[in-house]
Amino acid sequence: MKFAAATNNQHKLAEMRRILERMGHTVLSQKEAGVHLEPEEDGDTFAANAVIKAKAICEACGMPTIADDSGLCVDALGGAPGVYSARYAGVHGNDDANNKKLIRELEGVVPARRTAQFVSAVCVCLPGGAHKVYQGECPGTIGFEERGTNGFGYDPLFIPDEVGVGDACVPNEEQRTYAQLSADEKDAISHRARALARLEEDLPHFLADNATGGNETC
Ligand code: IMP
Repeated sequence: MKFAAATNNQHKLAEMRRILERMGHTVLSQKEAGVHLEPEEDGDTFAANAVIKAKAICEACGMPTIADDSGLCVDALGGAPGVYSARYAGVHGNDDANNKKLIRELEGVVPARRTAQFVSAVCVCLPGGAHKVYQGECPGTIGFEERGTNGFGYDPLFIPDEVGVGDACVPNEEQRTYAQLSADEKDAISHRARALARLEEDLPHFLADNATGGNETC
């Protein structure tokens, strides 16, 4: 199926494209779909923001659209930065400042209390407005310093509990960060890949139900 990806984040676009193309779909960037929009993400939840983005871009381009809203929820910080992950340090998308702030906020927090999870809510929206949200999570911990150069955002600080490729995941004994994983390794366990896998599994049902216009989160 051909989808527009509702994101202006090139890293997110690359991951969505990589994962969805492996499933046999075609992914157009917003630019390729002829849309130059940055909808305001003023929802209280990842799901609400994913719906805002998917609906806005879908309406603008008239194509089936997938949006991802995601972020890092740190237990010792009461779930922060959460839906504010992109602008944690004030300026939207300043990964370096966000990472430095996270390290500061967790100063003195012992390893056992540095648990966190990455969350992704993906929304698929069809022309006409029918939409559905799927969520994926990846549990892990927050490191004391940035390690690795792959990926984006909080990747150099996030240490997933498990690593591996395909179904062969094992405990992350080497404490590698998301930024130290290959693309295949990240896609095997990431919050985004898990949310998109749920979407892929349900897509035939969602398309079949579309005539009745159901809007749900699962
Ligand atoms: P959004 O565009 O509001 O969904 O912003 C998501 C923000 O969460 C990004 O700017 C990153 O800071 C962070 N984030 C989401 N997914 C990832 C990921 O896979 N790796 C690292 N950071 C991520």
